[in-house]
This record gives sequence, C-alpha cells and structure tokens, in this order.
Amino acid sequence: MGDYQHILLAVDYSGHDGAVARKAKALARKYQARLSIIHVLDNIPMPDMPYGAVIPLDQDSGYDLLEAEKSQLIQIADEMGVEHASRWLVWGVPHQEIVAAAEREKADLIVLGSHGRHGLALLLGSTANSVLHEANCDVMAVRLQDSESKHFI
Ligand code: AMP
Repeated sequence: MGDYQHILLAVDYSGHDGAVARKAKALARKYQARLSIIHVLDNIPMPDMPYGAVIPLDQDSGYDLLEAEKSQLIQIADEMGVEHASRWLVWGVPHQEIVAAAEREKADLIVLGSHGRHGLALLLGSTANSVLHEANCDVMAVRLQDSESKHFI
C-alpha cells in the first residue's frame, strides 16, 4: 500500500456510516492525508438539475428535503473535522458520482461500505462493486456488520 494523500469517504446516511467513517479517519491520520466526504443525492426529486451537479452547502435552497440532506452531510463532516472545501453533495447516480468526484479531486483512495451481498442482491450489484470496477484509484470496501455503532469518531 502506497502513501495516500487524499482520501474520499462516501456516506449514504445509513446506520453504517460510522464504521466506514472511522476507518477513513484512521487512514487519513496514518497517512497524514487530506480527507474529503461525499454524499450523492439520489432519493429526492431535483427538477432541472443535470446529473453531476454539485450542490452548494452554504446557500439556503428553500427546499426542505434538500436542506435536510445538506444538514446531515454538514453534521457528519463537522463531527469528523472535514474541512469545508472538502465536503461534496452531488446529484446523480451514487457510483458514477463517487468515481467522478475522486477523479476531479484527485483522490487516491475511496473508502466506502460493503454489505457482502449474496444471491440475487449480488447479481443486482452494489455501489461498492460498481466503484471497485470503475475507479482509477484504490478503493477500500469496509465490510459492514448489522450491529455497527453510529458514531463517526
Ligand atoms: P450499497 O451498495 O448501496 O449498500 O452502499 C455501499 C456503500 O456505498 C455505502 O456504505 C456508502 O459508503 C456508499 N454509498 C451508497 N450510496 C451512496 C450515496 N448515495 N452517496 C454516497 N455514498 C454512497
């Protein structure tokens, strides 16, 4: 494993983010690397917005659902001590936008969760699988257990 300089953490706001976040934070500390965080909006309607649009975190949109998504990212990033310029809220398909953000921001390691799917769920694919296949940089898939703690540090 080389020395990582920029680690991108992908959070989906599930109860599992804490385990993934702690791993990313530990790696950032070990390698003295910059730590960025991304959440991809794929669960609320965003009319007239092209995929890949980066949503500013510091402007009130007047759209309650979007403000709730922003607040969650800000809260996680604050708790983890991620600097403001390294927080990304993007509209689109999660695996595509995670890979695109890693390339754009020159991240050399993506950290995300993996549920270890079986059977049909495995055939349908997962964000972790897609990112592993599509990313140009290293990817760490943190195996998630059902009983994870939700704390980020
Ligand atoms: P999944 O394959 O959907 O179970 O998600 C596995 C991991 O991919 C999650 O633990 C997150 O690290 C990441 N992920 C999934 N959806 C998103 C999203 N909308 N935004 C950012 N990361 C995500």
